[in-house]
Amino acid sequence: TSPVRVLYKEYRAATPQNFSNYESIKQDFKIEIPEYFNFAKDVLDQWSSMEKAGERLSNPAFWWIDGNGGEVRWSFEELGSLSRKLANILTEACSLQRGDRVMVLLPKIPEWWLANVACLRTGTVLIPGTTQLTQKDILYRLQSSKAKCIITDDALAPAVDNVAAKCENLSSKLIVSQHSREGWGNLKEMMKYASDNHTCVNTKHNEMMSIYFTSGTTGPPKMIGHTHSSFGLGLSVNGRFWLDLTDSDVMWNTSDTGWAKSAWSSVFSPWSQGACVFAHHLPRFESASIFQTLSEFPITVFCSAPTAYRMLVQNDATSYKFKSLKHCVSAGEPINPEVMEQWRRKTGLDIYEGYGQTETVLICGNFKGMKIKPGSMGKPSPAFDVKILDENGTILPPGQEGDIGIQVLPDRPFGLFTHYVDNPSKTASTLRGNFYLTGDRGYMDKDGYFWFVARSDDVILSSGYRIGPFEVESALLEHPSVAESAVVSSPDPIRGEVVKAFIVLRPDYKLHDQEQLKKEIQEHVKKTTAPYKYPRKVEFIEELPKTVSGKVKRNELRKKEWKTI
Ligand code: ATP
Ligand code: MG
Repeated sequence: TSPVRVLYKEYRAATPQNFSNYESIKQDFKIEIPEYFNFAKDVLDQWSSMEKAGERLSNPAFWWIDGNGGEVRWSFEELGSLSRKLANILTEACSLQRGDRVMVLLPKIPEWWLANVACLRTGTVLIPGTTQLTQKDILYRLQSSKAKCIITDDALAPAVDNVAAKCENLSSKLIVSQHSREGWGNLKEMMKYASDNHTCVNTKHNEMMSIYFTSGTTGPPKMIGHTHSSFGLGLSVNGRFWLDLTDSDVMWNTSDTGWAKSAWSSVFSPWSQGACVFAHHLPRFESASIFQTLSEFPITVFCSAPTAYRMLVQNDATSYKFKSLKHCVSAGEPINPEVMEQWRRKTGLDIYEGYGQTETVLICGNFKGMKIKPGSMGKPSPAFDVKILDENGTILPPGQEGDIGIQVLPDRPFGLFTHYVDNPSKTASTLRGNFYLTGDRGYMDKDGYFWFVARSDDVILSSGYRIGPFEVESALLEHPSVAESAVVSSPDPIRGEVVKAFIVLRPDYKLHDQEQLKKEIQEHVKKTTAPYKYPRKVEFIEELPKTVSGKVKRNELRKKEWKTI
């Protein structure tokens, strides 16, 4: 049987439409890993055949807008034909062989999706990167990844040229541009003449498919190797269960093209279910254009990050109607219950939180049909056995905080990375007993829901108490003056460390008496959460340090605190 039938039609028919019966879904879950698997051939081309045979709705495969009237819509057949052209360019003009690495630094333009599929077809290894990289970052990434080819645009080509001489593996450069550039192949021109006759390589399921850089929240980004089955097949779990997609859905994910989240929600998850991938080439995140797009286009499923939701809920949305929207999800950081509540007031919809890493597919999620407990990450994805562990790798009972681990022995689940590229000691350090350690702390309640406490390094130890910043930040957010905050440990001569909150105030509170406001906020936290968690130190700042993908870099603030004594 073809995987698309297993993943979509038959599997959907065989599993209940919702998770009111979570236990039986978890128990019955099984995907046979085929020896050979290639997402382009086994999934995309299957949708294309179904399209031709009239077995698929007219829902496009890809729908892109630029916000200035520019629009691209492709069927699976058109996506197939264009990606085969690019595949021929990679193997012929660029002389790339199966296994060679291709770095793609492109904003949200249609060529980014073509590059994804063309790499699958040629068996070359895709390495996406954000367009916000500096020349130094590009040099580091080209050297460490040993990429042979780079695809980028006018904005970054000069930076690549400045460092190319130091990258001995780099042998071909493609630019997406209206103009020609010395030493570069012009992709738009080449596409005009390329043949769309190409036979997809027959990749083994465990062959390397792509390398993603982590977000770099806690240090320099790490390179994560994924195979055709770990992401190509694994992300169908996200599409089927967490995103609840079908072939009539239109899915919009706002994340940057440089992160694994775009593989999750802009490529593999939606296409595994035959849904349409919607993309908006927004140069900057603006609440008004997000609301406008959600109300103007038939988007049914929306995926964004907590930082974006926190910004969106601060804006008035009463003039917009979200006629098609039916499912909203968030991942990347914990989402505060207060934000979920405000989003529901604006849109009538819940936010279904998901938890995962660049290293994995969805680890825990809130699934349709399951009761949502605000602040919880939901229950383990059907693909993983997730447990809370002590320092010896023993499974802890409900209610006890420990390290979040995924069982990898005796059978390694699919949907998990193979290794940190060129870093065997780091790879080995994530193993404890039969488990892969996520590096995050949490606990499971008696109903089997998982609660995120903190990244291991972010836990605050004050007077013998262990405090996770998220809970304090969520309490802070319930105060009307707080737009955002980051909570870290700060040195204290008596308690060892104490809780310190860095707070960004909402604009209308900036002129208030700051000392009085601090006291008010501290009293508020004492009342909303256990008093020992209240921030003994408070500092107002203009903005929080964040990664390109919008995650709060608590470790930067923490380092500053500890150096100043
Ligand atoms: P780096 O590993 O480079 O420091 P990163 O861990 O932020 O960066 P990602 O792989 O993008 O890189 O993020 C995964 C991490 O994000 C998780 O380990 C977890 O700490 C956090 N995370 C993701 N989703 C959630 C969620 N729903 N709730 C809490 N934390 C989350
Ligand atoms: Mg990480």
